Amino acid sequence: MNIEELWQAAIGEIELSVSKANFITWIKNARLVSKMEGHCTLEVPNQFTREWLENKCNTLILRALRNVSPDVKKVIYIVADRHMAMEQSQAIKLEEIYVQEAPQLDLLSNKIDERTNLNPKYIFETFIVGSFNELAHAAALSLTEPANLGKEYNPFFVYGGVGLGKTHLLQAIGNTLVKRYPNQIKVKYVSSEVFTSELIDAIRAQKMEDFKKKYRKIDVLIIDDIQFLAGKEKTQIEFFHTFNALYEANKQIIISSDRPPKAIPTLEERLCSRFEGGMTVDISYPDFESRIAILKSKLEASEILLPEETINFISSKIQKNIRELEGSVNKIIAYYKTNHIVPDLNKIKELLKSLIVRPPKRISPNKILDTVSEFYEIPLKDIIDGGRKKELVKPRQITMYLLRDELRESYPAIGKRLGGKDHTTVIHACEKVEHDRQTDENVGMEINLIKERLYNS
Ligand code: ADP
Ligand code: MG
Repeated sequence: MNIEELWQAAIGEIELSVSKANFITWIKNARLVSKMEGHCTLEVPNQFTREWLENKCNTLILRALRNVSPDVKKVIYIVADRHMAMEQSQAIKLEEIYVQEAPQLDLLSNKIDERTNLNPKYIFETFIVGSFNELAHAAALSLTEPANLGKEYNPFFVYGGVGLGKTHLLQAIGNTLVKRYPNQIKVKYVSSEVFTSELIDAIRAQKMEDFKKKYRKIDVLIIDDIQFLAGKEKTQIEFFHTFNALYEANKQIIISSDRPPKAIPTLEERLCSRFEGGMTVDISYPDFESRIAILKSKLEASEILLPEETINFISSKIQKNIRELEGSVNKIIAYYKTNHIVPDLNKIKELLKSLIVRPPKRISPNKILDTVSEFYEIPLKDIIDGGRKKELVKPRQITMYLLRDELRESYPAIGKRLGGKDHTTVIHACEKVEHDRQTDENVGMEINLIKERLYNS
């Protein structure tokens, strides 16, 4: 058996034990380049992949190789040269940006390119990677290789809550492609609202062919915040056809949303399965270390040095929104510019008051009912008493769960509120939702999003 065959057999086994997204992103582009005295050398496209495989997949890979060839003792990971060169040049660029070009970068930041609609401030070099976004980042990075465009990652679907870096990541793909292949790859970034309104105009003016032609000229179409398509049935149908036309022409489509395709209410089934047919990745909340790294990188660009203690304080208080982390840095910069001193911890607590000590918000049972109804776009009366249809039962059970979990209402009281249900029905609902929340990431995500709306609007 040659090494090519050995690797093919091993990855066949690995493929069965990891998710499709993980497989395509981390494993598929690895190549077994040598095997000597039981040492297998795997060549991978970049440093991120190397670290990830080494830290998280080594046992799996070793086991798979051993199953095929029992003499394998060890796996060594190396980065392919071509890519190494690319990353080194990126590292240099990063230094230049921080050390010499910070002012220019500021100037650049609002100049949106008219042709591509891309904002040049969103680049990979300033995108901090941690466990909360590493899969999304690695997959996005793969899309900066023209050979990957329009293939397995099509469409590329990124989802996650507000302010967690979806727009930044999507635009970074576009900016990188435009910079490296200025006359070869046509990129266009649109929000789903802009896309929808152009689509509606085209339908009205009976110029769908022109619309499709225009979009077909694009090689990479980035559509941000697709959740706004929810509820717009006609638009979705047209969107589906446009999507197919692009897809069949091997155009790369990149999409973001605040939730996974399945959780977008009233998303046409066909469209949902199209979205799920490519690669779907999520960005979750940044962990403490990542929050520190993000803060430090934003501070670095501003020449302000804060003590560790202060950085730890901010990172421990602002947990769920990177835009707010940035906001806190901006407040500190503004203070520094006016007063010419770096604020101490007490001053910072005061400056960031509005970001960190949110006034304790009391939510009411009605607020829960309304928020769930709005989230699923189902009239409240149907949630309360619309029968046993599946699309009603789930929102109803989630409502019960939230009334119990957020407000500690009694089971009989919840039953009464929801059209006179028996308390055993409520108990069952709460248990079911709790179980689903832990086993089905879509359900977990939906509940988080509903809670976010409950407390932030
Ligand atoms: P979303 O589109 O998910 O709401 P954005 O992409 O607009 O979020 O991100 C909000 C802000 O936080 C932006 O200014 C962005 O540059 C910054 N940001 C998000 N993620 C990161 C990251 N991983 N590293 C550095 N900055 C980030
Ligand atoms: Mg966004």
